[in-house]
Amino acid sequence: MDLPPPSGNAATGALRFAAIEAGGTKFNVGIGGSDGKLEASGQFATRSPDETLSAVIAWLDEAVARSGAIAAIGIATFGPVDTDGSSPGLGRLGPTPKLAWRGLNLASPFRRYDVPLGLDTDVNGAALAEWRWGAAQGSKRACYLTVGTGIGGGAVLEGRMLSGRSHPEMGHMFVRRHPQDDFPGTCPAHGDCLEGLASGDAIKARWKAALSTLDAGHPGHEIVAGYLAQACVNIVATLAPERIVLGGGVIAARGLLAMIQDQFDRLANDYFSGFRATDIVLANLFPVSGLIGGLAIAEMALNQAAATA
Ligand code: ZN
Repeated sequence: MDLPPPSGNAATGALRFAAIEAGGTKFNVGIGGSDGKLEASGQFATRSPDETLSAVIAWLDEAVARSGAIAAIGIATFGPVDTDGSSPGLGRLGPTPKLAWRGLNLASPFRRYDVPLGLDTDVNGAALAEWRWGAAQGSKRACYLTVGTGIGGGAVLEGRMLSGRSHPEMGHMFVRRHPQDDFPGTCPAHGDCLEGLASGDAIKARWKAALSTLDAGHPGHEIVAGYLAQACVNIVATLAPERIVLGGGVIAARGLLAMIQDQFDRLANDYFSGFRATDIVLANLFPVSGLIGGLAIAEMALNQAAATA
């Protein structure tokens, strides 16, 4: 396992880390310790790269000036992004729909602090945080699936995040279509992949409302739950997690988790012996799973730097 057990509290003088969660609509930044607790945090709207990154760096500079140095930085970001820690391209954003950010290296501006830096996807960060301090504690392998405006998934297997030069894109897995669903899908690349059919954007485009505002008897609940249950079956079939943690705004719809668990049971048909529908759980740390994941990514970068020094 890569991570030591939690080693103390930031308030007692233990190591302090900076965490950055880069999102499509906002950037979160925080300072915290190896207990997964944030002692301060800030939030900035995602505007142009210059504007946004300057605001985040100004916040960090002030936090460091106020309460002392940081030992490492962890970044949890939207993708696609180069997550290969041994590559000089670590942090380089790929063909994101956020055009101004394409090709930009998100790690470079933070090298100025001259401390070990780790970077991974926001969902791998969230998986790491939930595995270490949240709803997946005690499991050897855990996955995190966020269902918000888009869908993304990350995994922690035996203490390591599943990534390298590339990373999982669980939102773009293909699912069997519900017989009553003729919606073409919203994914610009695939049309009716999981994200194209079950994301918050897909739900709004199809039914002109958020899932949580549809009547209890509306077929949308069963349709969306069915796609997410298929996603869980596919994740269990490929990664054999002990827990799947669900986060994101769509998941908060009342009764959705129970419907996903029911449909998972029906689809799985008792085939996956080590995984029960009740191993699909709600996130404990949402909406800050990704930011807290940044703390764990930072600590992991510090440990790796120490191991190779
Ligand atoms: Zn897609």
